[in-house]
Amino acid sequence: MATVNRVDLDGRQIKPMTICMIGAGGFIGSHLCEKILYETPHKILALDVYNDKIKHLLEPETLTWADRIQFHRLNIKHDSRLEGLIKMSDLTINLAAICTPADYNTRPLDTIYSNFIDALPVVKYCSENNKRLIHFSTCEVYGKTIGSFLPKDSPLRQDPAYYILKEDESPCIFGPIEKQRWSYACAKQLIERLIYAEGAENGLEFTIVRPFNWIGPRMDFIPGIDGPSEGVPRVLACFSNALLRREPLKLVDGGQSQRTFVYIKDAIEAVLLMIENPARASGHIFNVGNPHNEVTVRQLAEMMTEVYSKVSGEAALDVPTVDISSKEFYGEGYDDSDKRIPDMTIIDRQLGWNPKTSLWDLLESTLTYQHRTYAEAIKKVMAKPTSS
Ligand code: NAD
Ligand code: UDP
Repeated sequence: MATVNRVDLDGRQIKPMTICMIGAGGFIGSHLCEKILYETPHKILALDVYNDKIKHLLEPETLTWADRIQFHRLNIKHDSRLEGLIKMSDLTINLAAICTPADYNTRPLDTIYSNFIDALPVVKYCSENNKRLIHFSTCEVYGKTIGSFLPKDSPLRQDPAYYILKEDESPCIFGPIEKQRWSYACAKQLIERLIYAEGAENGLEFTIVRPFNWIGPRMDFIPGIDGPSEGVPRVLACFSNALLRREPLKLVDGGQSQRTFVYIKDAIEAVLLMIENPARASGHIFNVGNPHNEVTVRQLAEMMTEVYSKVSGEAALDVPTVDISSKEFYGEGYDDSDKRIPDMTIIDRQLGWNPKTSLWDLLESTLTYQHRTYAEAIKKVMAKPTSS
């Protein structure tokens, strides 16, 4: 472990710190815990309702980092231990949230409570106790691009000024209230504004992270294997599930929306830079994504089909995709972000971070993991006769 004489971007020695990580048992949390335990001397107080994705870091007790991670099973909605754990730490990282789009329009109250109300005590305890906070927001706070309101054939749609998303310039454009999809983005926007105001009025030392579709191993769940059969995870797991089951990938409203995907391991490098360079990270909102990995959802489906065929050795289906309406797939109140390309100026300037992994490479390593982890379990489940 390269923990001796580690220095920050300004050549200062990095002192070991205690990090209170809320939501440590999730997708991003599990990768962040690995990074911190494998490569730094920092201690983690890991808070979550679940710990399945970090079990390999918690057991057995003979692991070399066993004294640097402590798991606390708790729900931040109602647990008096929260303030004490924040007080014991130098830094709090809040990842806890409901963050799967299938929930935004079907469970809008839970979504708003989780992303705004439940985060309030975390912000308050950090502010009152002069503790640093890194809060996870989302690229979805940008909502739709300005360009999406131009006529379809307008040449201005090709002008980056109409679609590149900049932390300090772009507006947040959401749909009407009855499009409950925006409940998540709106709650995240309000907590960002609250944190920003705590910084301005009460001196809270904060950093806000806006992830742009971070993907990789351990993201979400495969329905019927390690999550509910009827559950709808984010697109990577939806498409992985279909590939594993040899079913066509469902393209919502034709799969025309565009996304940029970044490999989780690249993105975690950015978070570690924020953790260890407070002077450069504090007071900033950072886009963290890969502007070079843009595809439509249809192109993502085609690429995943090709990559999965390569890693599994199974030929692709003759008809690999099928169109489905958003109403049928997500229900009433769904809406979509049209395009998400992050501007990287601020993170590059402050932290010198840039993503490295191409979409093909990140899909190859991720789908190799999905195949190794789930292919046998899926075969077993599919071989079972269904009860009528
Ligand atoms: P995740 O669902 O895998 O992780 C969230 C974790 O928080 C889960 O383990 C969950 O059990 C925990 N949690 C939720 N509510 C809790 C509560 N009340 N008390 C204790 N624990 C609770 O999601 P993720 O992809 O790791 O995302 C983490 C954060 O990053 C979220 O805030 C999300 O909004 C944000 N984000 C992620 C992405 C991405 O690309 N993965 C994109 C945009 C925003
Ligand atoms: N999507 C899709 N098929 C699926 C799951 C998602 O076409 O099986 C689309 C969804 O409508 C959206 C994009 O894929 O346009 C990304 O969805 P995701 O759930 O990953 O989250 P988002 O990027 O919208 O936050």
